[in-house]
Amino acid sequence: MENIETRIVFAEEGIRAAASTLASGGVVGLPTETVYGLGGDALSPVACAKIFEVKERPLSDPLIVHIPEIGWLDRLAVVSDAARRLAEKFWPGPLTLVLPRREIVPDLVTAGQETVAIRRSGHPLFREVLKAFGKPVAAPSANRFGRISPTCAGHVAAELGGRIPLILDGGSCVHGIESTIALVDAAGIHILRHGPVTGEDLAGFGPVHGAVAGISAPGGLLSHYAPRTPLRIGAAIPEANFGLLAWASDGKGFPVVEFLSRKQDLREAASNLYGAMRRLDESGLDGIIAEPLPETGLGAAIMERLRKASVR
Ligand code: AMP
Ligand code: MG
Repeated sequence: MENIETRIVFAEEGIRAAASTLASGGVVGLPTETVYGLGGDALSPVACAKIFEVKERPLSDPLIVHIPEIGWLDRLAVVSDAARRLAEKFWPGPLTLVLPRREIVPDLVTAGQETVAIRRSGHPLFREVLKAFGKPVAAPSANRFGRISPTCAGHVAAELGGRIPLILDGGSCVHGIESTIALVDAAGIHILRHGPVTGEDLAGFGPVHGAVAGISAPGGLLSHYAPRTPLRIGAAIPEANFGLLAWASDGKGFPVVEFLSRKQDLREAASNLYGAMRRLDESGLDGIIAEPLPETGLGAAIMERLRKASVR
């Protein structure tokens, strides 16, 4: 891959620059309320190919499509009443719906599957970019494949600097973990990836289940969101040159400690997760111990990430 200059841009001027890069078939780093995305024209196979190339993402891993306005939903997918109710309730927001695709969606986006994943983001800057561009944008997380998702513009620069022309800086992401991915069928709602919209939130809309067979589960592979330093989930018992990703303990005896949330607030923990993992990864440690969190609400989403980060 050639080395290009990566500009970090802001506000109105940045929105215009991002939209015009998208219009010319380029890819850009964009803020969302979950994590930063690497956006490209979702209806252009060439732009989508650039996303895979820049991320070094396997073509078997499909992309999420972000729509500028609700009218695009029916143009891209076949929408059941149950799915529409979820869109009406949770959009704009951190919920991705997996729906039967229409012809217009490139095969690259769906990885050849008969479904397409669609979301409408609530991030003010991202929404402005989508509005200015006027078409759907495919945007997976703006990190190299398998690595920790970026939650600020600096993380995107660290992951993809030199590979993309532009990063729109929208500050830190509110949620800090990826969107919930749900598939709705006659049996109910299947959570393919846990996220900011929790199983408890979805329970009012039908029976909630785990993943379904035959649909590639998000993050596909077992190992994902992973630091380079080996990470394991366990009790806060100090080991030589091991760091602690702390939840309930005070971290005494560890040379490096990152606290997810001193007041044990799951929202704060989610928003700190990836930044804390990155800092631990940069501390020259031999290993990282992550204390387990309760698996209720957002805790389920955080534990899902930690399990994938612990597989090597
Ligand atoms: P990322 O935005 O990088 O977190 O990646 C998006 C995730 O959405 C990927 O891990 C995909 O597995 C998942 N995804 C995208 N499209 C589909 C789909 N049609 N069916 C199931 N999962 C999908
Ligand atoms: Mg990702």
